Amino acid sequence: MPHAHAYIFFGIQGAGKGTQAQLLSNKLGIPQISTGDILRDAIARQTDAGKRVQSFLERGELVPDDLIFPVFTARFAEPDTQAGFILDGFPRTVVQAEGLDKLLAAQDSQITKAIHIRLEEDVLLDRLAHRWICRSCNAIYNQLTSPPREPGKCDACSGELYQRTDDQDVAAIKERIASFHTLTDEVIRYYADQGVLVEVEGNQSIEAVFSAILAELGLV
Ligand code: AMP
Repeated sequence: MPHAHAYIFFGIQGAGKGTQAQLLSNKLGIPQISTGDILRDAIARQTDAGKRVQSFLERGELVPDDLIFPVFTARFAEPDTQAGFILDGFPRTVVQAEGLDKLLAAQDSQITKAIHIRLEEDVLLDRLAHRWICRSCNAIYNQLTSPPREPGKCDACSGELYQRTDDQDVAAIKERIASFHTLTDEVIRYYADQGVLVEVEGNQSIEAVFSAILAELGLV
């Protein structure tokens, strides 16, 4: 059966992709699937998969397809994806996009819309330097533009806030930007060719970006 809401978010790290995916997930009551969060959790728990992917994340490189596919398909197979899902961080290559299409086609489903949040590079570097994330619920804060009420503590669940080590490492960030442009530009074109791509300007307030997304998805 087709999924009522099958969305993918694209955006260079720091564009607000995770924040917007969380907002849409809360609004529609469908899960946000972030491969980055799944991988970081596997590393924190030092599972077999976590140990195998750790060095790739530390270097800011993409995890090879043969390691990422099992991680993604295991999460995708969970029953909460039946009503719909929001993908954040997957697919990142055309090979992954084709794999996803096959997975969906097997369920007579397809992507409803792919949403690309655009952001200039200098705005992005500034945002990453100020990004704080909750260890418990993954809520995202910005020290300058959307700080938590109490420093270091999550407004939503009181969890501890941390900064990603790869957000503080300029060389790793540049590697992520380079890999975003070489690979993800191609994936974005893949969805443009399918006629499901929408683009939104990311250099606006969180609320303004979210309104633009809802308008593009016809959800207002
Ligand atoms: P993110 O949280 O989306 O920025 O992802 C953090 C890191 O996880 C990336 O830099 C990659 O090393 C890895 N990663 C996440 N999603 C994927 C994917 N779909 N394919 C390959 N590597 C991924």
